[in-house]
Amino acid sequence: MAKYKGPVCRLCRREGEKLFLKGTRCMTEKCAIERRSYPPGQHGQGRHRASEYSAQLREKQKLRRIYGLQERQFRGVFGRAERRTGITGEHLLKLLECRLDNVVYRLGFASSRKEARQIVNHGHLLVNGRKTDIPSYTVKAGDVVEVRPRSREILSIQSALEAVEGRGIPAWLERDQAAFTGTVRGIPTKEEIVLPVNEQLIVELYSR
Ligand code: SF4
Repeated sequence: MAKYKGPVCRLCRREGEKLFLKGTRCMTEKCAIERRSYPPGQHGQGRHRASEYSAQLREKQKLRRIYGLQERQFRGVFGRAERRTGITGEHLLKLLECRLDNVVYRLGFASSRKEARQIVNHGHLLVNGRKTDIPSYTVKAGDVVEVRPRSREILSIQSALEAVEGRGIPAWLERDQAAFTGTVRGIPTKEEIVLPVNEQLIVELYSR
């Protein structure tokens, strides 16, 4: 599936939830969900019959869009989750949450996951002292993520750090703002991954 290049607020409106895809704008009254909370398009305000399949599909699309993955990438992560022993839905959430771009976002070095991916892609990060420019890299407990010294003046990183105070940092991560570093204290538990998604419906969708 081709990369989506259209207006991202439309994706939130389609899911009927704030997916926080635009960074600081999402916290303001300019957020499209605040102003037009109905689905986009000509029939957005019409009546829709919800089927079991459409409920499962919507949950999958919502989760995929939150983390900004294309269908093939998302299917790949699901495959990895499926191969692990235990509850597939929980593994799926944990694998997504432990992606390096998500960790950068959660640590507040970026105001959105899209911006975080760009920071990683452009080589502004070190993981355990080594340059890492792969957004899908899966962090482990004890990993130390660091903004490279020469990249610390980048305006988007500076302003994201100022804005993160309202968002908070999850307990499984620890940030040293002065040193521009973050430590993964442990792999997040299911309870620590707070998302408006029913992952079980996604497992059911892919089990069809
Ligand atoms: Fe979604 Fe953010 Fe746009 Fe609001 S501003 S609709 S949360 S992307």
